[in-house]
Amino acid sequence: MKDIVKKVVSYLSERGFHINFLREDLVRAEQGQLKVSTWFSEKDYLDWYDPLNLIDEFQLNDTNALIIVAPRAYTIADEVLHSIERARYWYDLFINVKVYSVDVTVLDKALEEAVNSILTNFIDLTANIVQTEGTCPRCKGTLYVVYANTFFSRILKCQVLEKIYRCPNCGLKIHRIEDRYRCLR
Ligand SMILES: [Zn+2]
Repeated sequence: MKDIVKKVVSYLSERGFHINFLREDLVRAEQGQLKVSTWFSEKDYLDWYDPLNLIDEFQLNDTNALIIVAPRAYTIADEVLHSIERARYWYDLFINVKVYSVDVTVLDKALEEAVNSILTNFIDLTANIVQTEGTCPRCKGTLYVVYANTFFSRILKCQVLEKIYRCPNCGLKIHRIEDRYRCLR
């Protein structure tokens, strides 16, 4: 698991996150106002039943997204979601966190897709530029580039420029990858 933690942490930094280790198996990644907890689990079940443990442990009341990296990530993600639901029934506690599963057997691809999706979902928390570019395919309003970052895509195996577009008129969000360095041809 240690190698996996190292790999994930270095990838998250490449994608613009600042990393804080909360525990050996729990990392807090922040970028702008966006807070992401990443949990590395070797098990495929939760050790506790009381949802308060989960919420405390992962600081879920102060987290936008939780990435679960595990051999059977989907199974645990399911349990975590049930636990969050239970918190609502038991304690009237509404935890608003999106859960992403990253299976270690497809680590590179799953992690990249999870990060793409987190950055796009929470773009209002991470916007780093504002630039008009083109028109919105949905409402024909002005489209803005609100996020740009260069990184080495593990899926495409080349350096890419990622851009996230936002239409303030209809709310559309678009994630695009540009092959600026022409390594895909
Ligand atoms: Zn639009």
